Formats: sequence, structure tokens, C-alpha cells
Amino acid sequence: MSKFSQHSFNNQKALIRVDFNVPLDKQTSAVGDDTRIRAALPTIKKILADGGSVILMSHLGRPKEGPEEKSSLKHIINHLSGLLGGLPVQFANDCIGEEAIQKAASLKPGEVLLLENLRFYKQEEKGDEGFAEKLSKLGDVYVNDAFGTAHRAHASTAVIAKFFTPENKMFGLLMEGEVSSAEKVLHKSEKPFTAIIGGAKVSDKILIIENLLEKATDIIIGGGMAYTFMKAMGGKIGNSLCEDDRLQTALDLLEKAKAKGVNIHLPSDSVIADKFDANANTAVAPSNNIPDGWMGLDIAENACGQFTNVLHRSKTILWNGPMGVFEMVKFQHGTKAIAQAVADATSNGAFSLVGGGDSVAAVNEFGFTDKVSYISTGGGAMLEYFEGKVLPGIAAIK
Ligand code: AMP
Repeated sequence: MSKFSQHSFNNQKALIRVDFNVPLDKQTSAVGDDTRIRAALPTIKKILADGGSVILMSHLGRPKEGPEEKSSLKHIINHLSGLLGGLPVQFANDCIGEEAIQKAASLKPGEVLLLENLRFYKQEEKGDEGFAEKLSKLGDVYVNDAFGTAHRAHASTAVIAKFFTPENKMFGLLMEGEVSSAEKVLHKSEKPFTAIIGGAKVSDKILIIENLLEKATDIIIGGGMAYTFMKAMGGKIGNSLCEDDRLQTALDLLEKAKAKGVNIHLPSDSVIADKFDANANTAVAPSNNIPDGWMGLDIAENACGQFTNVLHRSKTILWNGPMGVFEMVKFQHGTKAIAQAVADATSNGAFSLVGGGDSVAAVNEFGFTDKVSYISTGGGAMLEYFEGKVLPGIAAIK
């Protein structure tokens, strides 16, 4: 059993760093996609069920100069209360100071207090110790359940941990799930381990590919970034996306992979289009022989088959980045086919972890949410973890 599950919060005030950075409607300030709030509910509910009380702290948006109406966490009070079955949610108009201290002090078991946006103070992102200490005084126990900000050394995500004894600081259930899934893939992967890396730019994914060369048996490269590799190897790519300043990087990565015995799989064929448009004319061409005036916007049938074969024999799968411009119907087949192959491998016993905003959106949109082993909630944090970096939010508690 995990540290969080074993801990009894009876009569304790748990100060939880959550990631409630949700989209709000520009006119009404109503909560849009509430996935991040829902993701924290199991942690909140366990503490309340134990007879503890909950103090929630989060950031919202990117306030530049102190408090601003549109980034106030008060806009989520009603939504949160609804998700908690109508339980009233108290609110402190300032995350530190007299009101927060009073409201935290008078909180009774079973009650919930939400603090105003942490980023109304510049000290939050600066990782200011004095600010972190003031926050720490509000609770008896510190619970970090904000994986989405685990790669930031902010006051509430990392620095605050030093003001709690080892037994009084821990991950919440969401964080535990994220960390154990990521560790399973990076450090305890059953082989063959295939990483699927897609999306637009090679430059965004160099570090993750480099680190995965140490861990994976196979790396599938799809999406717009594949064409930089194609061109580097002497292929014709027409108007496909290409980072000309990364051609050498692409060759270096291929060379390193060869030296390490890692199989790199590039798409043999592509769905090509005569313009970047949902209604473009389309055709199929070898990915290394795309006619002038055309661009590769998805992987085509042979590539789908090629990648599916690799995935079907994999025991561990990491997926970051779509295979094509999946936002347009004409170019989503490849990403769908890969989602299907990941789902099939998962039902045959593989462990699959999907992370990164676009691949998560694709998996959800195409109906594979429950058919993969784990979907990560933290795009940037997950990427940094797989780049091999130490995440301050994790290190502060471990
Ligand atoms: P990233 O944020 O790097 O994961 O990239 C995701 C974006 O890459 C999505 O918006 C896709 O539409 C885009 N994308 C994927 N494949 C291609 C492609 N072949 N050409 C242009 N854009 C692409």
C-alpha cells in the first residue's frame, strides 16, 4: 500500500497542491474541460472520508501583475462543489494572510477550503522560501497532487516540502499513479519497449529521443518530424514540414541508434496533400519521394501496417505526439490506426502510457481512453521526466 493510502488524515488539515489550471469561458468564466479537477477528486475524497479537512491550493492562468478577476479561482467554487456532491467549498480571497489563516484554523473535519490563485504572488514561481513557509503553516500535512507542475521548482510544488517532516509530506493518488507509471516505463520496462514519438518538430523531441535511446528497443517516429529525417537521409519531401537546421541532428540520432542497437522506424509511405487544408486534394506517396508542391500530412497504409507490427510485439509502449494532422478528418487515419494498435497490444498484456496534450486528445477523441494502461495528465512534466530530468516536485518528496 502506498504512503498516501496508509496515512490516516483523521483530524488533520491536509494542504493539497492541486492543478486546477482549467480553461474558463471568456464571457461567463464557467469551467470548460474539468479533467484536471476530476483527477484530484480521489485524493480529496480519501482525506475527507478519513475525517480530515482539505485546503486546496493551485495556480490558474498566467496572471502577470498580481490579482486579476479573470484568473480568480473563485470561478471554480461551484463547479468543484458540484463534483464533490454538493459539499460547500469555502474560499479565501488571498492564499496567504489573515483571512487564509483564520479560515484554515477554523476548518472542521469534512470541510474544504480553496485558496485564491497562488500566482497572484510572483514569489510562487520564484520559489520564494518565505512565501512557501507562510503557505506551509496553513496545514498539518502537505500532499502534492499536481503532476502537471511537477517540473517546476515553485514555492507550492517543491520548496514548501522542506517545512514538513518526512511522514507529513507525500504524493496524492494522482501523483502516485503518474510517478509509478512513468517509473514503470522508464526504469522497469518489460522488453520489447517501443516509444512512439510524433508531432510537429524534431527540435522539441531531441532530448526525449536521446534519452530513450538508452532505454527503448524500438522507436517509431511519425508526424511532421518524420520528414526532417527523410530529407536528412536524402529523400524528397516536397513542401512537408522540415527543420533544415536539424538535418544533422536527425542523422546523429540515427547514427546513435544504430550504435546502440535501437531500431528506428520511419513511415514508409505518407498521405500527401496539395495544401495544408481540411479540404485539400490527397494522394499517397513514399515518404522519401513526395512530389514538389505536395506535403506529407499523415502516415499511410503501409506505414500503419509497419508500425502496427512493431506495436503488436511490444510489451511496453510510450506514446507522445500524433502521427499526422489528426485535427483534420482526412489526416487522422494514421493516428487512429496507431491508437488501435496500442489498444490491441494493451489488451494482449502490454503496458501502455500515453502522454502529451495532442496524443491524449487523440486517444480520447477516438474512443481509446479505457483501452490504454495509463494516460498522463502532465504534458510538459511527462516530457521532462522522459528526457531524464529530475522533476523538482517529485524530488522534494522522495
Ligand atoms: P506536438 O505539439 O509537437 O506534439 O505536435 C502536434 C501537432 O503536430 C498537431 O497539431 C499536429 O497537427 C501536428 N502535425 C502532426 N503531423 C504533422 C505533419 N505531417 N505536418 C504538419 N503538422 C503535423
